[in-house]
Parts: sequence; C-alpha cells; structure tokens
Amino acid sequence: MPRMAHCLRAGRRRWGILVAAWFVACGCSVCLLPLDVAAAPRKVLIVYSWHDQMPWQAGVRTGFAEHLQTAAAADRPDIYEERIDAGRIQDAGADVGLYNYLQAKYQRVAPDVVVAESQSAANFLIRHPDLFPAAKRFAVNVANPGNIPPEQTFVVTEDPGRALKAILEVMPDRERLVVVLDRTGIAGNTKKGLVEAAASLSSRIPVEILEEFGFDELYARVGSLPPRSALLYFPVFHDRHGARRIPRDVASTLAEHANAPIFAHHDSFLGTGIVGGYLISAPRVGKLIALIALGSPLPHSLEEINSVIKDYQFDDRQLQRWEIPDARLPIPHTVFMRKPSAWILYRWQIVGVACLLALESLLIFVLLRSMRDRRRALADLAEEHASLERRVEERTIALKAANEQLALLSFSDGLTHLANRRRFDELLEAEFLRLRRSRAPLSLIILDIDFFKNFNDTYGHVVGDDCLRRVGAQIRGVVSRAPDLAARYGGEEFAIILPETGAQGALALAEQIWAGITSLEIPHAASSVADHVTVSLGVVTVVTRDMQSSTEVVALADEQLYLAKANGRNRVVAKAFG
Ligand code: GH3
Ligand code: MG
Ligand code: MG
Repeated sequence: MPRMAHCLRAGRRRWGILVAAWFVACGCSVCLLPLDVAAAPRKVLIVYSWHDQMPWQAGVRTGFAEHLQTAAAADRPDIYEERIDAGRIQDAGADVGLYNYLQAKYQRVAPDVVVAESQSAANFLIRHPDLFPAAKRFAVNVANPGNIPPEQTFVVTEDPGRALKAILEVMPDRERLVVVLDRTGIAGNTKKGLVEAAASLSSRIPVEILEEFGFDELYARVGSLPPRSALLYFPVFHDRHGARRIPRDVASTLAEHANAPIFAHHDSFLGTGIVGGYLISAPRVGKLIALIALGSPLPHSLEEINSVIKDYQFDDRQLQRWEIPDARLPIPHTVFMRKPSAWILYRWQIVGVACLLALESLLIFVLLRSMRDRRRALADLAEEHASLERRVEERTIALKAANEQLALLSFSDGLTHLANRRRFDELLEAEFLRLRRSRAPLSLIILDIDFFKNFNDTYGHVVGDDCLRRVGAQIRGVVSRAPDLAARYGGEEFAIILPETGAQGALALAEQIWAGITSLEIPHAASSVADHVTVSLGVVTVVTRDMQSSTEVVALADEQLYLAKANGRNRVVAKAFG
C-alpha cells in the first residue's frame, strides 16, 4: 500500500514536471518570438571633418537632423557621430591616437554604415582601411574618393567657374572680379578650377586671385578696390603668417571692409554680409547623408548630385544694398531675409477692407437705384397729378358751361328765348326792393296777343308757336337797355320790367313795341280788330316805396291791360302812380 501510494505520487510528480516544462517552453517561445522577428536597427556612424562650431558642419548637421525627422521613428537608425577636426589637428600622432580610440570605441558596436563628410574625414578612412571592417563605407562631399567604392562616393566638386559666371549674370556691369582663398590643401582643387575659369573669362573681364596675404592687408585691400569690382570668397582658414580664423568670421570682416559686393560658393557664409551666388548647400549635404543613413534611393550621377547639393541663393538685404533687381537672379533661386510684402503681412486686413468696400459699394448702388426709382415714381406721380389736374380743369370748364347752359335754361323760355316766368318774378321782386330805398320809378308793361285762341284755331299750334317766337324776337329787339328785362309771362302774354323808368319812357317803349309787332303784319284772319296779329299793352309806373308788394304792381299793370282789352284791343293803356 505505501509502495503503491509512492508510485502514484511519483507518477503525478512526473506529469507535473512535464506540464510545467511545457508552460515554460511556450512562455519562452512567446517571449523570444519578437526578438527573432524584429530586425536590429541599422547602426550608422558619421565622421565629420570639422567641429560643431564650424558653420558649414553645423549646417550639414541641421539638414541631416531635419531630414531624419521626416522618417517614421521605427525606420530611423542608431546614429553615432565623430569629429576629427582636421582643419586644426593634422598631426600624424593624433591620427594614430584617433584610430586607436575609434577602434576601441566601436569594437563592440560594429557600425553597419560609416559616412565620411568632406575630404578630410574621407582621407582618414582611406588611410585606415581596416577600421570598421564590417561597415559599408560612404564618402559625401569629396573630390578624391581614394579606395572607397565609386558607387558609395558622392563627389561634390566645387565649381569656381559657375560661381564666377553667377556674379556676371547678377551684376553684368562689373569690370573686375577678385577671388579670395587661402593656400590650404583643401583649396588646391579650387585654385586649379579658378585658374581655368579665369582664363576662359579673360577676354571679357580680368579675374584677380588673392591668396598671399595677412588678414589686415586683405581687409585693407578689399576696402580700396576699383569701382565696379566684385569679390568671390572661398573659405579662408589662415593667412600667410599662420594666423587662424573661422572662415565665416573672415567673411563677416571682409563684408565690413569691402567696397564691393561679395559673392561666395558655400551657403554657410549667407548672413555674414555676402550677396549669395551659386552655392553649395551644407543642409543639402546633410540631407544626402540622411538618405544614406535611412537606406533611401540615392542620386549617383555628378549632375544629379549637383542638382541636389547646389543652387542659387541670395540675401535680400544685400540685393537691396547693391541694387540688384530680382529679374537678374538666375532661375530657380532662393532669397533669404526678404521682408514679407504688405500683401503677406496684411492680406486678411486687405481682404476684409476690400470686402467692406465691395459691400459698401453694393449698398451705395442699391441706394442709388432706389433713389432713381423713387425719383421716377415721383416724376410719374407728378405727371399723373398734372394730367389729373388738367382733366379736372377740363371737366370744371365743361361743368361750368353746362351749369351756365342749365342756368340759362332754368331762367329762359324755351320757345322765345326770352326770360321765363321764374326769372321775371325774381327780378321784379329784387328791383321792387332795391327801388324802395329811393323814390326811383319802376315801370311794368304787360303785353297780350289779341284773339290768339282764334289764331291757333285758324292756323294751328305750330303756326301759333311761330307767331309767339316772332313777337318775342320783336320785343327783344326793342328792350335792349341793360337793367330792363323782357319775359314771357305765360301763354301768349309777355311782361317787360323797366327799373328806374318813368311813365313817359315806359309809354314810349310800349308804343314802340306795339308798332314793331304791328309792322310784322302776321296775317290773322280770325281777329275782330285787324287782318293781322295785334297786341294790347297795359303799362304801369309806380314808386315801389308806396306799394305793398311786387304782385301789387303786376295787378295794377294787369288792370291797364284789362282796360286796353276792354277799350277795343290793339292799343296801349298806361297809368302812373305816385
Ligand atoms: P283776348 O283777345 O281776349 O286775349 O282773347 P284770346 O283768345 O287771345 O284769349 P284767351 O285767353 O281766350 O286765349 C288764349 C289762347 O292762347 C289760348 C291758347 O290756345 C293760346 N295759347 C296759350 N299759350 C300758347 C302757346 O304756347 N302756343 C300756342 N300756339 N298757343 C297758345
Ligand atoms: Mg291772355
Ligand atoms: Mg289774348
């Protein structure tokens, strides 16, 4: 039993160990898996020829860092940097010491790629082929690649000829070119190219090369150049007395002293007071190193490399100072330190003001249009008003005429056109009252056609009407004085009001009327007194103040008429009162 329990315990332990081992194996493989899959980052060592205070090298590093940042973080290599400071330290012992130092330092790191920037760094690698044995070697910005494979060599040759021609393109009025450079080994190739370029330009312009000078002599010399000279500046590290300077500082001092514009061939001198020119760009060299470090496709032909590395660049302040118009600058080019134009500075304000002006113009336009429309509407209204007034005037005249006609009709007798009975009554009353104020006489004649009923019966009413018309016309012809009024009193009777007319005058007028009608000799066969139409007239003359009313005057006149009828008709009977 104890033995069996022991076996069971041993079996369980074995299973436990196996399961634990399986878990450990799985865990390890899970942990190791990413290590196997992820590639180790590239290790890139960059060997610079100078030190970081050298503006050229600072420009290269800026361009390098900027382009590296454009790559994804995972694609960026591990970067190592070394500076051999060859410009200042050219000692063989220092060279060996640096070799030993780098060998010891990078033994464990073993960079995959080593990039030499500028000829001095490239020369160091060329001198030590066994250094960094595992690394692929590149040389950037060199003239002499040595044992570095050509496909890994980026030759950036200086082009003094094109640098000189750039000056003449920008300032064609120059009559003398002065080139400043020093006698270091670095300048050797430059000098060679310069001499060739100067020879090819000799027919057009003299080119003087300054390389043997003390700094003070140099500054004095450039301050007294002949008019219409231009300077081309190549890096100067030391003078003939061995005095050392940083080339950018030399450029600044030259610009302070020179009486002519200074051009250069390296963009690290921009900002010192140089105009610019056809420049090798340090940041672009840095970009080329970044392309190598990232394993990106690379330019290889000299032309491709030149187009990547060199271009025309200018400082706007110097363009202004030397009055160089933009039209003279070769295309393409870049201008630095340009003050932004008013448009760039104030474009939103300008756009805003333009929008406001446009809006204002629109409002003015709308306002002017509405004013014009209003003026037209007012003119139309005035025209309408005038025509309305004209129509009213016309209608008023017509109405007045109609009223006059109506008044005439309402006061006149339609058959004889003498005044009617209404008019007679009104005027008689008016004259009666008026004449009461004085003792002026008022005479009244009442005329009646004799046997007119018989006339109608004999000749008919149409002839009777005609007879009435002729008698009326005859009366009208005699009664012409302004205040007198002849009226048809009714039927075949007529009445004549004679204000301020005495008995004598009234009688004379009555007889004149009688005689006139008699002379008409209208045939009247049915008359008992004559063979023509005759009339009887009653005439009365009163002083109205003595009368009760106008009807009393009519009644008195009627009495006279009655007497005339009674006495045989065809006569005048008159009577005066007062
Ligand atoms: P006496 O001499 O007495 O005046 O007699 P008389 O016939 O003239 O008078 P009476 O009063 O008898 O007749 C008047 C006539 O006048 C009656 C009428 O036929 C006529 N007469 C009245 N008015 C008009 C009229 O407008 N036209 C015509 N044709 N006749 C009228
Ligand atoms: Mg009568
Ligand atoms: Mg009669």
